[in-house]
Amino acid sequence: MAGIYIHVPFCKKKCNYCDFYSVGEAKMDNHFTDFVLKELNLRNPLIADRIVKTIYFGGGTPSLLPVGNIKRIISGLGDFFVVDPNAEITIEVNPDDVTLELAEQYHAIGINRVSIGVQSFNNNELVFLGRRHDASKAVEAIRIFRAAGIANISIDLIYGLPNSTLKSWEHSLNVAFGLDIQHLSCYHLTYEEGTPLTRRVAKGAVMPLDEEMSKAQFDLLRELSHANDFVHYEISNLAKPGYTSKHNSGYWLGEEYLGLGPSAHSFNRSMRWWNPSSITGWGNEVDSGNFLKNTEAIDEAIQFNELLITRLRTMWGVNLNEVANGFSIEIYNHLRKKIIPFTKSGKIIMENNILKILPNHYFVSDSIVAELLIV
Ligand code: SF4
Repeated sequence: MAGIYIHVPFCKKKCNYCDFYSVGEAKMDNHFTDFVLKELNLRNPLIADRIVKTIYFGGGTPSLLPVGNIKRIISGLGDFFVVDPNAEITIEVNPDDVTLELAEQYHAIGINRVSIGVQSFNNNELVFLGRRHDASKAVEAIRIFRAAGIANISIDLIYGLPNSTLKSWEHSLNVAFGLDIQHLSCYHLTYEEGTPLTRRVAKGAVMPLDEEMSKAQFDLLRELSHANDFVHYEISNLAKPGYTSKHNSGYWLGEEYLGLGPSAHSFNRSMRWWNPSSITGWGNEVDSGNFLKNTEAIDEAIQFNELLITRLRTMWGVNLNEVANGFSIEIYNHLRKKIIPFTKSGKIIMENNILKILPNHYFVSDSIVAELLIV
């Protein structure tokens, strides 16, 4: 089954830590939706799997896109693919945009999952991040979606914020777990090139949190999520049983996906391609016909590295039988040799021939995975 991602690149206000491609909402008009549908028409043959299991509106701020346009895109997908009647249809929303009317409209057009960009339940941290909502608005947004009948609610939180403490992080987590949410994505703050926040760090005006406190916050996340019956199924993602994100799991499990909109990425097992990070550049590319500027063929080494990068940080792990059957003997032997120090130290375990990094080592998983890759 395939996944469809639609990148809606409009934001009312740029958050000062964010490097996702987005422009002001003044640039949004019906042409955007027309171009998404045009791109769908053009690119859908690149995806072999014709059954759509997940649709994900990400951004940017998709909750700025009028509901009628979202509906047009969902029905347009049905012109080219078979949309599974139980498809997971997610939209990312900014708490500030949420009204009961909007939530009911989403429910009516088939959206059955929302991902709310909460980031923190501490108002001082929301101001620091440049968010346009406060904590009470985020709590209200969750209640509104529940009242509108959307039963699968995910929220995003950020940890590792400068000046944050175990207490401030515990507050955000306790508020989150006290609400009726099914899924939680927790990301460590990153300092991306070119953002206002990174410039402030370079000037010495902001001091990043030390690693020890970041690790303590990660450990607290694990402890509280366990106490609240959430499964830590991927380094940054936790869910109540039965509520893992089907869309994101598709990325980690190597399923095909088609990305529509500026900066969106796509994958069809033999090739990866990505759209220009500019509305004009993307529009020109779509207008020019089938021309794809940014592509990468997936050779065996890339496929192997991607398998490790995506899968080892999930509860599913890497099945050695899959490596033995799907790759050359050299690659299989490379992996068997490279994992020895990690299985000895307990950082990687092997259960029924499946390699896994246990969640208590997820925090250092980047350095573990880096040692296993083919370079
Ligand atoms: S964090 Fe979200 S709302 Fe803020 S600028 Fe980035 S995409 Fe827009």
